[in-house]
Amino acid sequence: MTSNKKCVGVVPFGDVPVIALKVIAAHISGYLDLLPEILPPLKLPEHAFDQKRLQYDAGIILRSFESMDFNPCEKVIGVLQPDLFVPIFEHVFGEARQGEQCAVISLFRLNKNPDGSFPTTAIVYERAAKVALHELGHLYDLYHCEDEKCLMHFSGGLDDLDATSLYLCRYCATYLKYNISH
Ligand SMILES: [Zn+2]
Ligand SMILES: [Zn+2]
Repeated sequence: MTSNKKCVGVVPFGDVPVIALKVIAAHISGYLDLLPEILPPLKLPEHAFDQKRLQYDAGIILRSFESMDFNPCEKVIGVLQPDLFVPIFEHVFGEARQGEQCAVISLFRLNKNPDGSFPTTAIVYERAAKVALHELGHLYDLYHCEDEKCLMHFSGGLDDLDATSLYLCRYCATYLKYNISH
């Protein structure tokens, strides 16, 4: 029997721990009605590296990412280890354009707590899963949500990210379900 679920690709950019990809994939199938597939690694586009900021420009990565063919995956999440930025923010955990095909997330800021202590790997990967599901929400056309616990609440830092849950509020959940099935 084949599944009717829509496929979401999880793509490592360069060296990414396999466990991180598996945890993200497990959360996509566990929390959303989608079928994740871990795809072969891609090279990070070197022109996306900003020599002054020593970070990768999320918008430039997304542009080259969106020009690739990921059939049959409807949406694709790229995962990288280095830090990401968009010009208006010091850094971002992830970036996706509303309703588009590709998102990108970075693991860089997830493995150190705001107070300087180190979280367990379980927490690091739960954070990665939250960022991935949040960006996937944008790809399915969800906007930021006022509800601080909702997965679609904007997270500027780890405190915000840790305060959100892996769940969507009722409004976002309904909207997402509709968008996935249409
Ligand atoms: Zn967002
Ligand atoms: Zn919400």
